[in-house]
Amino acid sequence: MSFELITIPCLSDNYAFLLYNVENRSAFLVDAPEAGPINEALNKNDLILEQIFLTHHHADHVEGLSGILKKHDALTVGAQADINRLPKLDKYVQAGDEISFQKQIGKVFDVSGHTIGHIALYISSQNVLFSGDSLMALGCGRLFEGSAEQMWQSLYPLLSLPDNTKICSGHEYTENNASFALTIDPENPELVRRSEQVRFARSKNLFTVPSQLGLEKKTNPFLRPFDKNIRKNLNMLGSADTEVFSKIRSLKDNF
Ligand code: ZN
Ligand code: FE
Repeated sequence: MSFELITIPCLSDNYAFLLYNVENRSAFLVDAPEAGPINEALNKNDLILEQIFLTHHHADHVEGLSGILKKHDALTVGAQADINRLPKLDKYVQAGDEISFQKQIGKVFDVSGHTIGHIALYISSQNVLFSGDSLMALGCGRLFEGSAEQMWQSLYPLLSLPDNTKICSGHEYTENNASFALTIDPENPELVRRSEQVRFARSKNLFTVPSQLGLEKKTNPFLRPFDKNIRKNLNMLGSADTEVFSKIRSLKDNF
């Protein structure tokens, strides 16, 4: 069986993702920011929508749902912890649960921080993590509901996923994230190189999402609070990872 992944730009800077089985055209959608472009991608690629996975309750990730369900009869899945804020769904899951799609097994992670009840889905056979607004390309989501400590606890376990994991995050924020990252990690050659690539890609209107976890580990400051150079630049050589993470997050909030 072979699968393909499509990135669908929605609204002003959101992304939804379709993973589909190339042979029988069954599709799995992650997030529902906007019905129009998602329905169009389904039609254009001749796909049968089987399941919809929602990462979190924010409007820009769920408001296209009813317009998609009007045209497609799909099973909807979201976080048990957020049952009261998500639209009414068919199935609710929590951390450690498994979701199956076309014999591929996805594992649910709790990645609270941006919101409480934010979940991510890791499908190891496809080397893909759908991270929503938790881990993002060169960044992480703002802390609207959780604490910095909670976000770090959500992101830390993701470091043990394989380097070739594709990180499918919810927004095109990478260029701004790169500019910020350079302020606290300017001597990181991989970051300098990546920033140039990102700036070039955006000047051509190309997507910078999905990204690769291996590159995130080397360049995303939110995955590197233990890094010596970042710590030196922040004057926090002796601080705990959580404190450094929290400092990075608040600097980014005011960037
Ligand atoms: Zn959000
Ligand atoms: Fe969002």
